[in-house]
Amino acid sequence: MNIPQLKEAVCAANLDLVRHGLVTLTWGNVGEWTDDGDALVIKPSGVPYEKLTPREMVVVAPDGTILEGENQPSSDTPTYLEVYAFFRQKFPFLRGMVHTHSTSATAWAQARREIPCLGTTHADHFFGSVPVTRPLTEEEVREAYERNTGKVIVERFSALGLDPEAIPGVLAAGHAPFTWGNSASKAVQNAVALEAVAEMALKTFQIAQSFPALESYVLEKHYSRKHGPNAYYGQKENRE
Ligand SMILES: [Zn+2]
Repeated sequence: MNIPQLKEAVCAANLDLVRHGLVTLTWGNVGEWTDDGDALVIKPSGVPYEKLTPREMVVVAPDGTILEGENQPSSDTPTYLEVYAFFRQKFPFLRGMVHTHSTSATAWAQARREIPCLGTTHADHFFGSVPVTRPLTEEEVREAYERNTGKVIVERFSALGLDPEAIPGVLAAGHAPFTWGNSASKAVQNAVALEAVAEMALKTFQIAQSFPALESYVLEKHYSRKHGPNAYYGQKENRE
């Protein structure tokens, strides 16, 4: 997609976040990169959703320089740039990223607990637990809060050897979720899925504190039937 097309797609994806009930006030944003990774098109900071049009979208370079746009980009932009720079090596089709404060996923982030895979809904979207980062140190917050949020996300995925294509989301400790995908709209879908599985896990733990984990062969079956070379669920063009 060229930049004007990306502005349309990113604006629509931001409005989809509202449509899916993932946004309170202006707490959420979506961005999508150009195919060559030379520019990120992202929502402007603090602009009410009802006033968003493609024209308001901001285009930024990988170093954070504003290339196009009259507004400041989302304050989460440095986090996106940091995560993208590292994840793209493992997930070359990564294009879209989303940040929300959706209630159930944020509750897990605040409890600083990863979301374990308890059932097939989770397994369809995330190939294992959705990880949680470590908290930032006082110095990291003072020095470069948003960029260091990206660094601890990358640090967690590296430490656990996780594939960002198979686990397209994370919980920033004490903060909220981030998700990604091969487009802005796919990243939004993953944000919707993450909120749903976060709510389901929360309710599951309300019913029982201990129960068997989802069998690994069921996890593998559900993930592989929707993703990868042997996928057969749904229509081919909709698979990632
Ligand atoms: Zn936030």
